[in-house]
Amino acid sequence: DNNRFQAIISHCKEYGFIFQSSEIYDGLSAVYDYGQWGSELKKNIRDYWWKSMTQMHENIVGIDAAIFMHPTTWKASGHVDNFSDPMIDNKDSKKRYRVDHLIEAKADELEKEGKKADADALLAEMDKLLAANDYEGLKKLIEDRKIKCTVSGTGNWTEVRQFNLMFSTQLGSVSEEASEIYLRPETAQGIFVNFLNVQKTGRMKIPFGIAQTGKAFRNEIVARQFIFRMREFEQMEMQFFIRPGSQKEWYEYWKEERMKWHLSLGIPKEKFRFHDHVKLAHYADAACDIEYEFPIGFKELEGIHSRTDFDLRNHQEYSKKKMQYFDSEINQNYIPYVVETSVGLDRTFMMILSEAYTEEDLSTADKQDSRVVLKIPPKLAPIKLAVLPLVKKDGLPEIAREIMDDCKSHFRCFYEEKDTIGKRYRRMDAIGTPFCITVDKQTKEDGTVTIRHRDSMQQDRIPATQVRELVQKHIG
Ligand code: ATP
Repeated sequence: DNNRFQAIISHCKEYGFIFQSSEIYDGLSAVYDYGQWGSELKKNIRDYWWKSMTQMHENIVGIDAAIFMHPTTWKASGHVDNFSDPMIDNKDSKKRYRVDHLIEAKADELEKEGKKADADALLAEMDKLLAANDYEGLKKLIEDRKIKCTVSGTGNWTEVRQFNLMFSTQLGSVSEEASEIYLRPETAQGIFVNFLNVQKTGRMKIPFGIAQTGKAFRNEIVARQFIFRMREFEQMEMQFFIRPGSQKEWYEYWKEERMKWHLSLGIPKEKFRFHDHVKLAHYADAACDIEYEFPIGFKELEGIHSRTDFDLRNHQEYSKKKMQYFDSEINQNYIPYVVETSVGLDRTFMMILSEAYTEEDLSTADKQDSRVVLKIPPKLAPIKLAVLPLVKKDGLPEIAREIMDDCKSHFRCFYEEKDTIGKRYRRMDAIGTPFCITVDKQTKEDGTVTIRHRDSMQQDRIPATQVRELVQKHIG
């Protein structure tokens, strides 16, 4: 629900996960900065994806291509001509909307009023019109359903038009002959143009994959819903190059493989579903989304696309460079087909937080109490271990420092000696630290420390010398 969503957003800001970009200037719409703990969590998610894609698949290698690319790339990929969304403007408020968002908002409204069947019918009608590029039909649907502008409340609409989502800028100084280039709207093209470089230098044999993570930019019109829809975001993509004709099989393989990855984060199965695309993108012969049930409803998290040889064939045509592969097993030359997996890092971050964010009532008969705890999987948690001397004297900080020194080169640790131990535990709960250890008087006597588990709040005594191993076992 929306309250939960808002609570997570506030929590992100209060605890250093996400700030609005250039906040002191009132922010920049749909652009966000990751703070001290957010950047750690984001990095851990990226590393976990990278490891499972490259290290765990012997036939996948990674690259890191530039954001800027030769402008012809985007002609060949179809983005100059096709990467646009149908938009409609409200004549009174001058507000512009993506047609699908406007209609989806109406469907949500209907569903809230208990008219689920009607909402579904509306969405089905919209899908049909979008698939047919029937802009007049879409406009008529908006008018017939009396869909109003969210700002002026009027239903006075313009025609439906296409609006390109790519950002452009100039390469070279303006006075010289500057050429217009784009900020990449997806990372995939950096992989396609390097296909032969990697295949040849890496002696890769089909089937093989190339993985990449990095920033992508889209001038989204309806840019709201926090980090869910941003103008600058990060993708984790993998293009899998295969023999033509084997795409159905690999498409199914990657659907299943990617779903397994999401489930490996400990998220229940019911929170995911596949959504097959009715309207296929200009490059695809089959496509689906993995949707996750965010607090704001089921939304796209990842796309799995069977892209055929669309991209490589077009790059061959525009660059006049052969994009072919010689398959020695069948003695044939061909342009490989591609199955792509493309997941948003920021949306994965949002998913992890949505699952992790927990408000717990800890009241007892004589005391009201509660806590907010982020139950982040330990392997992704920003900080793995907090080392806390019970008091700031009697040699306890020195012992705590020794434990820090033993652990901090192995995983992220946090040292704190201010405030009561209860307050320090709660602060660690709020950023999802799975383990806290407390050094007290007894440590000096028998070398044991108290280890507190985040989720159960259970406390055990263990020898200080075992702390590192125990934490490593849980985050491995
Ligand atoms: P949507 O329909 O939500 O606009 P899309 O179908 O255009 O997304 P793709 O082009 O398939 O998205 O991109 C792959 C992934 O990149 C998406 O599944 C999503 O996780 C992420 N993504 C796309 N656009 C954004 C954005 N504006 N902000 C954050 N993540 C995004």
